[in-house]
Amino acid sequence: MSVVLKFGGTSVASAATLEQVRTIVAQEHDLSGGLVCVVSATAGTTNALLQLAHASALPGTDVAAQCEAIRARHLTIADELVPVSHRASARECVTTLVAELQRYCESMRTLEECTPASLDAVASMGERLSSTLLSHALQATGVDCVEVRATNVIHTDSTFMQAKVDPVRTHDAASSFIVPHLTANRVVVTQGFTGSDAEGRTTTLGRGGSDASAAIIGAAIGATRIEIWTDVSGVFSADPRLVPSARPIASLSFAEIRELALYGAKVLHPDTILPAVEHDIPVLVKNTFTPADPGTVILAQPVSHGALHAVSLMRPCCVVSGSHDEVQGVASLDHLRTHLLVTGSSREHGIAVIHTPDAKHATDVAVAVTGTTLTMEQCAVVICTGPDASRVDTTANIVSKLAHLDVHGILTGVSPYSCFVVVAEADAVEALQCLHQLV
Ligand code: ADP
Ligand code: ASP
Ligand code: MG
Repeated sequence: MSVVLKFGGTSVASAATLEQVRTIVAQEHDLSGGLVCVVSATAGTTNALLQLAHASALPGTDVAAQCEAIRARHLTIADELVPVSHRASARECVTTLVAELQRYCESMRTLEECTPASLDAVASMGERLSSTLLSHALQATGVDCVEVRATNVIHTDSTFMQAKVDPVRTHDAASSFIVPHLTANRVVVTQGFTGSDAEGRTTTLGRGGSDASAAIIGAAIGATRIEIWTDVSGVFSADPRLVPSARPIASLSFAEIRELALYGAKVLHPDTILPAVEHDIPVLVKNTFTPADPGTVILAQPVSHGALHAVSLMRPCCVVSGSHDEVQGVASLDHLRTHLLVTGSSREHGIAVIHTPDAKHATDVAVAVTGTTLTMEQCAVVICTGPDASRVDTTANIVSKLAHLDVHGILTGVSPYSCFVVVAEADAVEALQCLHQLV
């Protein structure tokens, strides 16, 4: 019986939010005994570290001043969060970590080089800092707690910035570095996002990768449940910033949340799901700031409370249409395939919708269609997700909700859980809000 709790960047952003985290952990420890806490860097710190890493390779960057800003932020948290018995130790850990960071950045400046490996080494410092703050706060308030370095547990390949986990080595490492503490009813605090390769070099799992860390550790220790603590009360029926009437979904299947995460509902990293699915571990999404809210439970089995459970939006996208063969040619280009959202084709004609999150991707698509007879148009895609997303009556309801808009196309039946509605970019939010009425 062990539980993994993951706290995201906004949950560990300040002394006040970390105190909230500390309370949640202490309460769960009283109820469940041994548990693992996976923490993200304080909000904004990973971005600051990545900027620092890039700047370090350039002459003239004041590395010391930038490191001092990071140190000051974390010392302020230590002062406000950690009771006096453990404060000096917390301050010393922060100072030691930032000194290590500064030495690293200074050597990058000497070499005038910023490699993917050095980006990972620098970026991983955010999680080191937040985890030491939380473990000091827990220890100072009497919670039996130990900090375990994620680099000792999460073993990956050497694909810096996007490392792939080796589940067998990670399982073995978790058995030696984590499980004995859980058996002794301790809280293990560790860093999200980071791991190490076969040569012991620090790697990261990609942006937002702390969710993946939680699932990987959950699978490795055979957790009974993985809890993702964030700043919203679960997975919402739409991004609450775009649809004010969006509400938390009580339960979702793994298949649905994976689709939602793939198609723009950024609340969970898609890879979170894989180790949890394989080990049939329920994932609970909870709100750190309103812990009494029930949140969303994600289960391996299908759940049904209506035809559609959520809508999400991908934009900007490009719709490429024309001859079947030419569309296939564009869709199968290696550098476009990873951004391909959906395709549809008959014997003669075809369309492909490609997500173009930045100018480079838009240019890549424009280059790919140059010299063909294909047409290309900017668009947005609303994805309607649910157990009956591909049923004909669901499609009919979608059509009637959007009668007043110019719908470019509806692709249904491609995925059992999602229906893709292609609209003009200018209509995207309105279409999303209209389709949310079906949820
Ligand atoms: P954390 O820092 O805790 O990992 P994230 O910022 O990665 O949190 O994810 C939580 C955010 O995801 C929310 O604040 C919300 O704005 C956004 N979000 C997007 N789509 C959804 C959705 N369908 N349900 C809930 N949150 C969503
Ligand atoms: N701190 C990392 C990031 O900002 C990982 C995470 O928060 O999940 O991407
Ligand atoms: Mg996240």
